[in-house]
Amino acid sequence: MGIYEHKLRFKRRPLLRHVTSDESRDQSPELIIENVQTSIRFNNIIKSEQDMKSYRVLVLENGMKVLLISDLTTDKSAACMCIEVGHMNDPVEVSGLAHLTEHALFLGTEKYPNENEFRAFVSENGGITNAQTFADVTKYFFDVVPEKLSDALDRFSQMFIAPLFCESSVLREISAVNGEHEKNLDSDAWRVRMVNKTLANANHPYSKFSTGCKNSLLDRPKQFGIDIINELISFHNEWYRSGNLMNLAIVGKNSLDELEQMVCSSFVSGIENKNVNISHWSEDVFLNDQMMTKTYIEPIMDVRSLTISFPTPDFTSYYKSKVRELDFRFEDYISPLSLVRKVVSSMRHYPLPEVLSAPVVITEWQPDLIERVLKIITPENMRLVVVDKSFSWKCRQMENIYGTRFGTEMIPKSTLKSWIFCGFDKSLQLPQQNLFIPSNFDFLPISNWKQTYPKIIRDTSLVRVWFKQDIEFRKPKSIMSIELKNPTINCDPLNWNLTHLFVWLLDEHLKQQMYMAELAGLEYRIAVTTSGIRIYIDGYSDKQDIFLEMILKEIFRFKIDIKRFEDIYDSYLSDLKSFTSDKPQQVAIYHLNIILTEQMWTDQELIASMKFCNIGRLKTFMKEVLTQTHAECFIYGNVNEDKALQLSSLVEDRLSKARNCSPTKSSKIFIPATLTLRERKLSEGIHHVYQAVSYYHKLSCTSFYIQCGIQDDKSNVLLDLVLQMLKEPFFNVLRTQEQQGYLVDCLVRRANGTQGIKFVVESSKHLDYIAHRIENFLTSMAEKIETMSRDKFESFKKVLKVKKLPNTLTLTDQFWDYFKEISSQQYHFNRANVEASILRNITLEDVSSFYKTFISRESPTRRSISIHVTNKSEDKIEIEPQTLEIQNVVKIKNISDFQSSLQLFPLIRMKNLKQFYSKKK
Ligand SMILES: [Zn+2]
Repeated sequence: MGIYEHKLRFKRRPLLRHVTSDESRDQSPELIIENVQTSIRFNNIIKSEQDMKSYRVLVLENGMKVLLISDLTTDKSAACMCIEVGHMNDPVEVSGLAHLTEHALFLGTEKYPNENEFRAFVSENGGITNAQTFADVTKYFFDVVPEKLSDALDRFSQMFIAPLFCESSVLREISAVNGEHEKNLDSDAWRVRMVNKTLANANHPYSKFSTGCKNSLLDRPKQFGIDIINELISFHNEWYRSGNLMNLAIVGKNSLDELEQMVCSSFVSGIENKNVNISHWSEDVFLNDQMMTKTYIEPIMDVRSLTISFPTPDFTSYYKSKVRELDFRFEDYISPLSLVRKVVSSMRHYPLPEVLSAPVVITEWQPDLIERVLKIITPENMRLVVVDKSFSWKCRQMENIYGTRFGTEMIPKSTLKSWIFCGFDKSLQLPQQNLFIPSNFDFLPISNWKQTYPKIIRDTSLVRVWFKQDIEFRKPKSIMSIELKNPTINCDPLNWNLTHLFVWLLDEHLKQQMYMAELAGLEYRIAVTTSGIRIYIDGYSDKQDIFLEMILKEIFRFKIDIKRFEDIYDSYLSDLKSFTSDKPQQVAIYHLNIILTEQMWTDQELIASMKFCNIGRLKTFMKEVLTQTHAECFIYGNVNEDKALQLSSLVEDRLSKARNCSPTKSSKIFIPATLTLRERKLSEGIHHVYQAVSYYHKLSCTSFYIQCGIQDDKSNVLLDLVLQMLKEPFFNVLRTQEQQGYLVDCLVRRANGTQGIKFVVESSKHLDYIAHRIENFLTSMAEKIETMSRDKFESFKKVLKVKKLPNTLTLTDQFWDYFKEISSQQYHFNRANVEASILRNITLEDVSSFYKTFISRESPTRRSISIHVTNKSEDKIEIEPQTLEIQNVVKIKNISDFQSSLQLFPLIRMKNLKQFYSKKK
């Protein structure tokens, strides 16, 4: 495809609006001459045949590269700015400066001086914003409802043009950066990374400490006589004020011309082109003395890993030799935010017309390049890194920042020699022909345009088959879930373990074939659920029947090998034991679920029952499970009813053989009774507190949960609205203003037919104090909700409506929406529409009264619980003097005693399945 470029420079005049977005007309030069702020512009970007969006590339006069994406169907607009500066550009004396700059840009600008202006604006208009600092770039991004793109973009651009860098805000933000560092202190990934940096070439900026902390950003610079605020301003001046270092991608519902005008009016004045050189680092990251070495690192958790790395030159310029062209042809929808975040990186590396295609399409076959890479993979050009506690005795050095112990030694010459001359390994051969590669991409004719929701097309004593043909997305793909149900799987910890061992063994056994399937664009997962074993297949429809048949055959004929069993037994057990080293937040989630869910096993119970798991018991048990299974299938995508029946008959035939009986129509003899678990109901007016321990982490976590009863259409909507109103202020108050901790979030939890709202704070402060701050926040919000303006309330409703009824989903999203209804047995396929129409009539009084009944601290009927996760040293944390007593607190001492004192919520009443029967069968 030809590429049309204009290299025109004219004096400044207002941007004219008559440039059309129609591709063919747009390429005629006389239409473009009027534009004065753009020196290059073209529309003909290589794109996928199914891609309906239109694209335009601009290079503004100030050197900024811009990709405009017009998507008339989008319900979110988004933008991502990528600046060519990263933590490798940090001054030697101020580690973490690039990262601090990233945080500080959000703290208000000259034009919009409120500290939290941009984040609040985006959040009130249905979006999110965040930023990331990488080694060589920093990315800032947001999304927002389409009508607010222009306003959001103006606020966004001011962060680069004129940030305030107000001293008190920046100093407070250093605490946030420090909090982020403290969170990383006990993360083995960060610790291992820093040891590698310590061992790297000290002249290469890769070796620097990237995230920064209070010491590196305040104390250490002071010793060098550096004022951090001045340093921040000069870093910003150096790297954020030149258009040639900026790449911007933006998606909007507007035409390309409108988008162009928005970008020009926000980003042209205030940013000049200072032609700053983009940083390049020519030094080697690892010098010769680091090759042929073996480094031992002592982890915090009980993890083991071996990494073999072969430093290579930069191969980016050979991008045309990569794979995965099919995926480009039938690319799935990705959210506007993910799209801009992805494409902005391509804008840096590839010629602009190829920004979409270059990362995926191969156009050149270069075997010599493969040879070149192979020549790099040699024992002489290799570093080995072993992470394992059992080598602690070899770790005699200490890395300074995280305090990680490690040791490095040369690999003996004789070992190297034996590796160099080891010859060829016969098992490393080119694979056999891949049977799963699709060849037929035709769409099956639509058999029933009127079928809006999934229907049951077969219901026998062995299978129930839900089916829906895709009529919206039209991809040659389909997705299916097959759940082999059997209630004995979750009836005690022993059975639960046996089922997991079986699935782990099977997964291991299928690995090779699965790899082939994956290469052919088929995704596969097998998992244990509380009701059975679930198989999930997603990808091109063409060869799915061969694939499914192969999996079923393996499941039913699988012979368990004793050696494999022993290996898997060990890794499963060590996985169970590692729960003590989970992050505080995960420990909190786990305990909340254990306490509230009717039938869930604790890790201690599971570990205790492991001694009864042996290969004989496993074989007997699985034989029983598989011969007493009823399967629930859901098939969705490029399949028609006949094809779905054919696929499900593969399952039914297997079950029929296993049970040694043929299916009976509509008989319930084998169908297990309802397998849905129920939720425990906390007592009213009491705040329960459970204290859990996280052994390895320094930070503590509080997870404050408030139950809001059984789900129904109206209360779902009310709770979603409350969340919308609380989320951003919660972050703003507890994180930005009060600096309670780095991780601060609030979210809705829906489980077992019930729902509630959860507030999470990871902090180094005393958890009673944090709980007190959360209560304080809840009280302040009660008043804010009551006195909220009509306009503001309506805008919350509008944003929620878009969330309920998005224009753009993917085949996979739609599958999961339907699937959730089937697996929760709620069958409320029309949920989104029903909830959206209820939303229309919700008043502020409704929300306020919902809040007062369920969430307010003063409510006598509130049901709440805090999970406090601390490491053992909690007593040493000082309690702040202003801590108030929370009333009616009851500490939970023993989980099972507590559980037995609680009632259960009822189940949501099941719909009559008859209404879902397909009329045809
Ligand atoms: Zn950060």
